[in-house]
Parts: sequence; C-alpha cells; structure tokens
Amino acid sequence: MPFMINQELCAKCGGCFVKCPNRAIVQRGERYRVTEMCCDCGACTDFCSMRAIGKGKQRAVSDNRILGKALKDKLHLDRHIVAMRFADKPLKGVQVEEGPTFWCSMCGDVLEGNADPLFLTADACICGGTALMGIGARKSTKEQRAESFPVFIGEGKVYSSEEVLNKAGRHFPFFNKKYGGVIIGSFEHVDRPDMILFPVNGHQMCMLSTAYAFDTGEMIMGNSGTAACLAMTPITLLNNKPVFTCGDHGARTNMRLKDEEILVSIPFRMVSGLVKNMDRTIFAQE
Ligand code: SF4
Ligand code: SF4
Repeated sequence: MPFMINQELCAKCGGCFVKCPNRAIVQRGERYRVTEMCCDCGACTDFCSMRAIGKGKQRAVSDNRILGKALKDKLHLDRHIVAMRFADKPLKGVQVEEGPTFWCSMCGDVLEGNADPLFLTADACICGGTALMGIGARKSTKEQRAESFPVFIGEGKVYSSEEVLNKAGRHFPFFNKKYGGVIIGSFEHVDRPDMILFPVNGHQMCMLSTAYAFDTGEMIMGNSGTAACLAMTPITLLNNKPVFTCGDHGARTNMRLKDEEILVSIPFRMVSGLVKNMDRTIFAQE
C-alpha cells in the first residue's frame, strides 16, 4: 500500500478512518488499515498524533496514460474518457475555447476522439451550468435570461416554470473558490486532472461500483433530473465521490450518448485504487 499503519504505535482512535478523503482506511476488528484506495495524499500522516502512519513500499499510480489504458482495458470501454482540470488560466499548449459552446458538447467531442484539451471559461459557455461547476457564470441581462426561457421552460419542455428551474440548481454544493476556467480533454492528454467522466453500460457500472465497495463498503450514488454538468461535477469534486447520472435531454443530445449509456464521474485521486480493485472482485473471474 502507498501508506501503512504501524499497529504497535496505533492508538485505535479511528481518527484517520474518519478523515481520509479517499475513504481508503478501513476497520478490521480492532485494527485500522490502509487499503488499495489510498492515493498517496499524506493527509492522514499529519492528522495522526501517534505518528503511526508511514509510507509503504508502493506508490499509487498517478500517470494519466497508464490509468486511462487500464480503465479502457478492464472495462472494455469503446469510448474515450473525458478529463477535467480546473485552473485559473490555461496550461502551456492548451488553446482557449472561444465559444459560444456548451460544456456537454465539448465532452461529446472528446468522447468521440477529439483529444486536444481546450480551456473553457464561463464567457465561452452558452448555458449557466458553469456557475455550479466552479468557473462562475457568463454575464447576462434579465432580458437575455428571459429570452432563453422558452427553450426549456413550459409544457413539453424541460421544466414547468422558472421557479422549478431555480430549485433544481439549489440541490448542489457551492464552490467557495471560483476558477478562471476548466481544461477539458481526453484523459491521456490531461495530466493530473481533478476528475474524469465517461459513458458506461449497466455491466461496466456494476464493475466500477463493486470495485469501489470492495474494501470500503461505500456506494456510488446517482443524480438525475437536471443537467449532467450539475449532476456530476459539484458532487464529484466537493464531496470527493464518484457519481452516475443519465443526464438531461440537452446533455444527452450534445454528448451524443447512446440510449443504453449512462455517465459516471470519478475523482482522479480514486482512479488508481479503483483500477487495482477491479482485479480483486468477482468480475476478475470472468
Ligand atoms: S489516527 Fe493514528 S492512532 Fe488513530 S487509528 Fe489512525 S493510525 Fe491509529
Ligand atoms: S488517501 Fe491520503 S489520507 Fe487516505 S490513507 Fe492514503 S495517504 Fe492517508
């Protein structure tokens, strides 16, 4: 494991078990131990007053190319994986997306193999989803906002009223820090992203959730009823949890999802552990 607990020093207080952001520390009988879900962040070493947690012999895999290939091979993915990395300005060599565009259509391009990362800002994004994705909202007037309502509010549309639309947005946690934008590209081309997302079928989703639950007993929860960007990004980043969603009509259309596909998003720090755990569950026998 990347980190290990010295049982001679451990006072069995359970503090690290509660605090580990990756849910990588588990209780076995009276002992606490670190599992494959450990991402090497080192947060637990600062927390443990007994100095009982130290580095193990292995390191968590952090190479995006290795992890991307492993995910594709183990899950038999036939699509590309989208990676998102939040930043205040584009990294060297990353073009700024000028828009107007949608986050979901950019993701759709990546899923279909357009690998080059682009830097999306709120100003380039047509929809308001960016406000709940941590990069702020495009400036618009009351009149401009009202003009867009007929597209998605009313009978036969997405929401029955403006009040319902506003309520849908209140379900999600709030980003305290606003970033300048987000780099969106294929996993192989975005080093150390914050999160990844890709379409899965039921079998692939079951493989992933079994790998997540294997040591932790945690479940991957789903969100639907609003746009895919909101259903996934705030939960994955702020709660540090994998999430799945079927998305909404607009996102499914713009991402060009097949009927049988749902989306799953995963914090990057969990990918190494999930990849390792996939070889330890019942699916490895197939
Ligand atoms: S915080 Fe330290 S002493 Fe407490 S359970 Fe974890 S390793 Fe043991
Ligand atoms: S993920 Fe971080 S906090 Fe959790 S066990 Fe590993 S090093 Fe410690």
